[in-house]
Amino acid sequence: MFQKILIANRGEIALRIQRACRELGIATVAVHSTADADAMHVRLSDESVCIGPPPAKDSYLNIPSILSAAAITGADAIHPGYGFLSENASFADMVSAHGLTFIGPSAEHISMMGDKIAAKTAMAAVGVPLVPGSDGEMPDLETARSVASRIGYPVLIKAAAGGGGRGMKVARDPSELEDAYRLARTESRAAFGNDAVYMEKYLDKPRHIELQIMADGHGNVVHFGERDCSLQRRHQKVLEEAGSPAISAAQRDALGETATAALRKLGYRNAGTLEFLYQDGQFAFIEMNTRLQVEHPVTEMLCGIDLVREQIRVAAGARLGYEQRDVTFNGHAIECRVTAEDPQTFMPTPGRVIAYHAPGGLGVRVDSALYAGYFVPPNYDSLVAKLIVHAATREEAINRLRRALDEFAVVGIKTTIPLHQRIVDDPQFQAGDYTIHWLEKFVAGG
Ligand code: ADP
Repeated sequence: MFQKILIANRGEIALRIQRACRELGIATVAVHSTADADAMHVRLSDESVCIGPPPAKDSYLNIPSILSAAAITGADAIHPGYGFLSENASFADMVSAHGLTFIGPSAEHISMMGDKIAAKTAMAAVGVPLVPGSDGEMPDLETARSVASRIGYPVLIKAAAGGGGRGMKVARDPSELEDAYRLARTESRAAFGNDAVYMEKYLDKPRHIELQIMADGHGNVVHFGERDCSLQRRHQKVLEEAGSPAISAAQRDALGETATAALRKLGYRNAGTLEFLYQDGQFAFIEMNTRLQVEHPVTEMLCGIDLVREQIRVAAGARLGYEQRDVTFNGHAIECRVTAEDPQTFMPTPGRVIAYHAPGGLGVRVDSALYAGYFVPPNYDSLVAKLIVHAATREEAINRLRRALDEFAVVGIKTTIPLHQRIVDDPQFQAGDYTIHWLEKFVAGG
């Protein structure tokens, strides 16, 4: 087992990883930018190293600084969390080249899944169903036109290097295709330095259903069930549930079997998430994330496991030590992403937190790095807390969520807590009756 792990991240996820390390008796090294000198992940770690100025490119994305921090502190592994360097294959390679363990999959699998075209090709080859679309990249507008007329409008043009919903454009009919195609390429080049795009049929009422898997690299692959992440704004998840209100246990088992068989064939290792769109009873793969997800706690609550602990064990070479039939799904869990944003305009609201009170009680978990007096810096992602509730049934979970949101006090900055309170009180949400387009309309409707 590792003696010391460097956590190459910040905020709630850095704390989350630190907690797992502590419970395993592993020492932790925090890294931080100058903007984060007072951050909770720094205060609670065994050691900390400043790795650069506030802009992420100079600190949390600064590979030489992070590797130097690992070297001077004598860390033997690096956990990348999510975002930042977590899906950077060359970082994973460099970590290994420096004699350290990267807590995640192989660099080869990271780069395969990071290219969404390669990911779809690889998944199709191992029997995973896809959203209908282009066979790979569309090098010119002519190809786009012929694919669109084959699969039928509306279509979605997506960036091969995409992430965070960027480089994605809908064309509802042939007249919109040229603009959508050019915009997707331009946006993708600006965001990712790569303008390769592909096309998918634009589904009109899908749910976003994703499956959590864990593999030990010794041929053992299990899944921990699905999460429903359909509540999105600008293709970004806002509230997630496990299990999905729309999926039966039999559907979960069948999807799990397809996904675990596929990852066994690919020889995948560590945690991963397969994302699907689900419509008219059919699942269609859209992408795979080769890292821990923001919304992993709902799965942890449902299955009673610690996914970060499993990631660390597997990275250290351990076998899973359990099989699919040992994984149980109990009750229902919901997570709200609380961001430092105006709940109406969604403008970021960095600033000083004057008072802070986190909810508690039975079945309530808060993953957050906030505290009274903390200054939310403007330089990073606006996620400041995740409120997770677990209960025996979905209805009880919703009641618990409403109660916990009412207790939650963040004074000094605006947050999206009021938005979550409105969602929880909505009859359609309560009925579980929503698709990926529901929240966008809900927000627009006031
Ligand atoms: P990113 O990596 O940028 O987040 P994804 O491929 O994961 O992109 O898609 C993000 C979201 O965009 C999905 O959760 C879904 O809401 C929407 N989306 C993606 N593909 C389609 C599609 N073919 N039809 C309709 N909506 C889609």
